[in-house]
Amino acid sequence: MLKPGSIEIHSDVKTYKIQAAVLRQKGGPLKIESLELEGPRDDEVLVRLVASGICHTDIDFCDGWVESDQAVVLGHEGAGVVERVGTSVKSVKHGDHVVLSYQSCGHCRQCRSGHPAHCQHFYEANFGFRRLNGSNALQRSGVRGHFFGQSSFATHSLATERNLVKVAKDLPLEVLSPLGCGLQTGAGTVMNSLNVSGGASIAVFGTGAVGLAAVMAARLVGADPIIGIDIRPKRLQLALKLGATHAIDNRRQKITAGIADITSSGVDYVVETTGSPKMHQLAIEVLNPHGIVALLTGESGSDSFPEGRKTLGIIQGDAVPQNFIPKLIELYQAGQFPFDRLVKFYDFSDINRAIADAKRGDTIKPVLRIGEV
Ligand SMILES: [Zn+2]
Ligand SMILES: [Zn+2]
Repeated sequence: MLKPGSIEIHSDVKTYKIQAAVLRQKGGPLKIESLELEGPRDDEVLVRLVASGICHTDIDFCDGWVESDQAVVLGHEGAGVVERVGTSVKSVKHGDHVVLSYQSCGHCRQCRSGHPAHCQHFYEANFGFRRLNGSNALQRSGVRGHFFGQSSFATHSLATERNLVKVAKDLPLEVLSPLGCGLQTGAGTVMNSLNVSGGASIAVFGTGAVGLAAVMAARLVGADPIIGIDIRPKRLQLALKLGATHAIDNRRQKITAGIADITSSGVDYVVETTGSPKMHQLAIEVLNPHGIVALLTGESGSDSFPEGRKTLGIIQGDAVPQNFIPKLIELYQAGQFPFDRLVKFYDFSDINRAIADAKRGDTIKPVLRIGEV
């Protein structure tokens, strides 16, 4: 556990001494360093982080980083306590508990019509490592932040009202942190993007955190059968406990034959979380006419195939965090979305071990414990 940062005032701007896990080398390791974070601007909220989930996108960025890039702070499943708010912030105040999610611009047509996951500036706002106006609150330290509007592998983070969700103070913040990306994406794909209805057949390719969230959501909406597919028997066992009616270990059994055995045809929906081109192709092959493959690994737009089959690239399960995360929390409290079973906690200083465990597949959803509530 690290101590909360202290304020320092430099002639014009307030800055906070924070600690953050900095990426300076392709593939890591991340190193925890002391940095200076500029205090919140008018529309920003300074959050003292209690926990942060680690998502595969963090790991992909770590592995894809190149030496010519400036050092960055990753992390985009933060949860914490509001420390300070900018002058125009209305919805939260000092001491409120918040879960952080993806960032959006708030001004474009998609944002104004209630579809922030389709924000026209989604890429810059989440992967630009700067504010939309080009500035960077970690500039003084020569490091780039603002990843997904948060960079939550740190003791403190700057968010806005658009990417934070206020939560009740009696809820365990450290458990809630992964709701902001992975779990919202998996559940939102089933409940929002595909709007799966009772009795529909669904296969989930890859039963990591996103896939298991899709399995739990499929059970909630009454899909049947729900077929979990993975190469890790342990994960498949968990999928069966969380709502899958069938499991296929595709190291032992062919997916096409396995699905044909279960449904006597294909499936109405596939949620493809693996990102493998081979699995992408297979997903289309096992679809029933008018079936849909949801692709969750970065592709956007849609593609059509014979007999009304199609693929859809999905971002963040088309979820509006301020509506969907409270809904998932309610389901969690009612015992219907037991996502805490995917979580394993690590001390912030063990971030590199947590990443390694996630990469090996030993841990489904690592959550870093960063500070006290
Ligand atoms: Zn993510
Ligand atoms: Zn927008």
